[in-house]
Amino acid sequence: PSGVSTPSKAATKLGKRIDVVTEYQKRVAEKESLNLVVIGHVDAGKSTLMGHMLYLQGEVNEKTIRKHERDAQKIGKASFAFAWVLDETGEERARGITMDVGVTKFETEHRRFTLLDAPGHRDFIPNMISGTAQADVAILVVDSTTGEFESGFDANGQTKEHALLARSLGVQQLVIAVNKLDSVGWSEARFLDIVHRLEGFLVKDASFKKSNLIFVPCSGFTGENLVRRSKTGSICNGSAVTDAPVGESVAKVVQDFAWYRGPTLIQTIDKLDAPTRAVEKPFRMSVTDVFKGAGGVATAGRLEAGHVQVGEAIMVMPGGEMAVVKSMEMNDEPTRWAAAGDSVLLTLSGIELLQVSTGSVLCSRDAPIPVTTHFAAQIVVFDVKIPITVGFPVIMHHQSHNEPGTISKLVATIDKGTGEIVKKSPRHLGKNTTAMVEIKLSGRAIPLETFKDSKELGRVMLRKGGETIAAGIVTKILSYGS
Ligand code: GDP
Repeated sequence: PSGVSTPSKAATKLGKRIDVVTEYQKRVAEKESLNLVVIGHVDAGKSTLMGHMLYLQGEVNEKTIRKHERDAQKIGKASFAFAWVLDETGEERARGITMDVGVTKFETEHRRFTLLDAPGHRDFIPNMISGTAQADVAILVVDSTTGEFESGFDANGQTKEHALLARSLGVQQLVIAVNKLDSVGWSEARFLDIVHRLEGFLVKDASFKKSNLIFVPCSGFTGENLVRRSKTGSICNGSAVTDAPVGESVAKVVQDFAWYRGPTLIQTIDKLDAPTRAVEKPFRMSVTDVFKGAGGVATAGRLEAGHVQVGEAIMVMPGGEMAVVKSMEMNDEPTRWAAAGDSVLLTLSGIELLQVSTGSVLCSRDAPIPVTTHFAAQIVVFDVKIPITVGFPVIMHHQSHNEPGTISKLVATIDKGTGEIVKKSPRHLGKNTTAMVEIKLSGRAIPLETFKDSKELGRVMLRKGGETIAAGIVTKILSYGS
């Protein structure tokens, strides 16, 4: 009948506006989502441990693991089969190190995890920074082998550096996998000694709360205590690699490891708290990847704040271009909305591929993110050899950006405990000082927010000559635009 208007084709396709906050609360009530990063010294066994855990958890199909097993045997390194679960490309296999921040999803009974696999090699710290910047919680893997824990924990090892970085980047809960316990005969004394030494450092120097540290003894290689404990009469934990201790050694493992009565690694991470997400703040998504998608510009990244839905008009910073969210995918499934904490793939229309890049921030039109080259920050200086002076050149890491700049002003040094000013206009900053500084970028302006406005987008990391020299939070934006 006349008078009844049919909705336009576009409106039908885009559908009704969704009350995302309500939908989000429903979803959280079902199962909470967490972003997990795995850190630790090179060769601590990170890849083996995570690969084996995912296998035992049933996240890797039998065919894939058998193939990796055959390939690994060909090169005489059977244990690599599990590590390969996490790094699939040929180049990485050939070099035997995990290079990219690959993303894997898995679920436990009460949690959904996005695993950001951070590599352990020193050269890859910038990658680790972009991985950790997105992480809510971390597993720090340490090698309990005699001498190996020590070399990872000393001045040149990455155990301390990674833990400090993770803490500076906002990770509060840390699970420490005291790994390769098979190599020390499941010694309780060795485990307790490592716990003691690490706890001292993590609480005192890295400012983790003691109650947020959980130590789990395990072996990524045999699979012990990752998902299950070995029982006498069973074969060892379902290990797929042929050179893993199986059969006759099980009784001994059960006996030697009887002292441990705590949770397995998977039970531990299943109990981690999901942080409160800034769902009701203005929309922010930092872009980690851009490519030409079907019918638009595909952008991958994580929502740092707010929410977004299909059909919504958004702004792309630093350029300030407008675009419309044409479609959205999460965990390879189409979806109509996403909220803070979600990693998604958004396809944008009304914009050119060249206008979006890694490090761009998609944001709300009504409250766009500031874009700047000059800001104030409160920094903590790490173990630097040369004190920081005015004009000190740095590479500033912020989300996916690595931008050259200088420390343009030393405002004051600050007491770490009280937050009070110790000295105004200091001439230099030595190691372990906390200070207020100004930073000027020498190139382009980038999207940046104060820490007060965004815990995720308000953190920076300063590096020089391949070393991380300081971490900090943005306290004030001092200029807008380029
Ligand atoms: P990543 O560099 O931290 O990812 O370490 P990988 O997972 O590549 O492991 C490094 C080396 O340690 C490899 O040779 C592994 O076979 C070995 N390894 C890993 N996990 C264990 C373990 O639980 N026990 C023992 N004995 N060796 C392990």
